[in-house]
Order: sequence, then structure tokens, then C-alpha cells
Amino acid sequence: MKLAEKMFRLGTETAFEVLARAKQLEAKGKDIVHLEIGEPDFITPRNIIDAGIKALNEGYTHYNPSAGLPEFREVIAKEVSKTRNIDVNPDQVVVTPGAKPIMFFCIMALANEGEEIIYPNPGFPIYESVINFIGAKAVPIQLREENDFRLDTDELKKLVTERTRMIIINSPQNPTGGILTRDDLKVIADIALSKDIFVLSDEIYSRIIYEGDHHSISSFPGMQERTIILDGMSKTYAMTGWRLGYGVMREDLAVRIAKLQTNSNSCTATFTQMAGIEALTGPQDEVAGMVEKFKERRDVIVEGLNHIPRISCKTPKGAFYVFPNVKEIGWEVRKLSDFLLNEAGVAILFGTSFGKYGEGYIRISYANSVENIKKGLSRIEKALQKIK
Ligand code: PLP
Repeated sequence: MKLAEKMFRLGTETAFEVLARAKQLEAKGKDIVHLEIGEPDFITPRNIIDAGIKALNEGYTHYNPSAGLPEFREVIAKEVSKTRNIDVNPDQVVVTPGAKPIMFFCIMALANEGEEIIYPNPGFPIYESVINFIGAKAVPIQLREENDFRLDTDELKKLVTERTRMIIINSPQNPTGGILTRDDLKVIADIALSKDIFVLSDEIYSRIIYEGDHHSISSFPGMQERTIILDGMSKTYAMTGWRLGYGVMREDLAVRIAKLQTNSNSCTATFTQMAGIEALTGPQDEVAGMVEKFKERRDVIVEGLNHIPRISCKTPKGAFYVFPNVKEIGWEVRKLSDFLLNEAGVAILFGTSFGKYGEGYIRISYANSVENIKKGLSRIEKALQKIK
């Protein structure tokens, strides 16, 4: 088979590969603790499920506009206006099957071949993958542990060139749990404004935050027209499998992104959008409860990891991941993660799944019960004793 050249530039999300390998081991009878996949272990709140079922029964089973159901776009516009303190109208909203297509579509829509996009590394692997796939130049900005995994704004200034088309930020961040401060965002906004650059602001974890408030770069003067806010239901409402996300952007861009949707998915499933309306307008106490549970688990895992010799772990401020430093163990992290899966029956991700600057780190998702987290930690500790 002769594939198109760009297919060889496409990366992947290792989480799905590790999950598949873990499942194979389980099929052979091995007990595995799953700390690899980035999805809440909670069930979608009942009122949202009921709204989805009701919508199916009421016949919301047909195509709908590519940009999304008008009533859902309206609810999203209200929600984003309120939470980001900006003024969004429904025509600025594009609904997609999960938030991921917003990444794909916006990178494709805004960068020509050879133009540059700056993205966080370690960071969500799909940014780098898609940038490379479309033939743009992927320019990583390193997130360092000593800087609490925030990007260094002086370094960012140096990476910007005449060819920079977009800066991608993600706060709270996957895989580190790091958060950009308001001051960081201000500097990034100033750069974007002075150099006429778009910012793709991945805010999918904006409701899963443990200290302080979420700040969106879109709220700085002049930034709304240069920002694409990416968000969705997956993480906040434990709805990963429903595939429901959205982007908020200037209207003229939204029209183009909707056209990409027409050319690919046609539209997002109709009944899931009705469930999305319930998610955003219904009671929010379950969300608060989930965040409370994540926080409790975070504290258990950070403390537990810091008790294991040769591992040190910062306390993340948001999302549901820790990114512990395992450099003292002295193994390449890919080999270490294989070892932990096969020897200890603990599925985690190696840091380089998130880019080259992830060497020396592993990512553990604590979207699992305290009991399983404790079980995983004790297995890791025991297995590491075999590595001299
Ligand atoms: N952005 C980040 C940083 C993520 O970690 C994820 C999912 O893991 C997504 C976006 C994609 O979310 P969705 O499942 O809604 O496509």
C-alpha cells in the first residue's frame, strides 16, 4: 500500500495504546490497576443521561446544522460569557463530536505549510501530531518542573518569529496539572496582540481546578478575536464517550470551521447536544462533588508518590494527572512504563508520550478510586525495589 506522505507524520495518543495492551493482559488473567487513561471514572450525572434518552424518544435523531443546534449554541454562548467574563454570541460557537476536532480544524484552518505553531511540551500529543500532519512547523516550548510546569514567557518571546501563526496553551494542563497565572496570560496576550497571532486556548479542564479561579486569555482586551476557546463536556461532566465539545471563536472563523465540519462529520449527534443543554443548565452539584473527590485523590497520590524512594512529585493545581519525576531511577521512561505494566500490573504513561521534554517523568491519572490508587502505589513501590 502506498500511503500519502503526511500519514507518516501523524502521531498518536499513547493512552489508547497502553489501554489496549493492559486489556490484553487482563484477558490473559492479569490484574491491572488502570492509571493511564484520562477520563473521569464517574458515571455521567443522571439528569444528563435522562435528557439524552428523552431527546432520543422525542425524535432528536436526525441531522442538525454543522455548527450545532441553535439552542445548544445559545446555551454555550451564555455559559462561556459568564465563566470567562466576555460577551459571546451563538454565532461564535461551533459544536463538535468531542473537543478534539476543534484542535484539528483550527490548526488546519489557520496555518499554511511551513508556518509555525508554538505548543507546550510536554503537552497533549495531538497538538504536535496535527501540526506536523498538515505540514506546519511544530515549535515546542518546554514546560519545566522548576517553573511548576508553566511556560517561561521570556523563552516564548524568543520563539516567536514572523512565521508564527498560533500559540497553543492549555491550563489546567495535561499531563502536568500545571496552571498558567494571570500574569503569564497577560504576557502571552501582549505577544499575540503585538504580533497578530492566534491563541488556541485549551480550557477543557477549566472546571477541574483546586486552588484559585480559572482565567481565560480571551478576557484580556483585544484577545477575544484572537482566541479560540476549546472546551467541552468530556471531563467536567464525565461524558467522554458521548463525544461532545465545542470551540468559541470570532464569527468569520466559526463559519469556516463549521465548513470543515460539513466536510468531515457533517454535524455532532443531535440527541447528545440536548443532553449537553441539560449539562450546562441543570444542577451543578455533582460537578462540585467530582472535583472534591479528585482533590482527595490528588492528595493521596502526591503524598504516596513522595514516599516512594527515587520518585518526587509536585502537587498539581488542576486536571486529574500527576507528572512525577523518576529521573533518579535512571531508566528511560518508556522502558519503565513497560516494566510497571508487565511486572507490577500498573498501567501508567511514559512522559515522552507527551513530547521529548517528558523524558524523566511519568504521567499517572488519578481518575480512579482511592483504593485503586493506593493499590497501584504499593505495587509500584514494590516493583521498583527490583531496579537497582
Ligand atoms: N484537550 C486536552 C488537553 C485533553 O487532555 C483532552 C482529552 O484527553 C482533550 C482536549 C479532548 O477532549 P475530548 O474527549 O472532548 O475530545
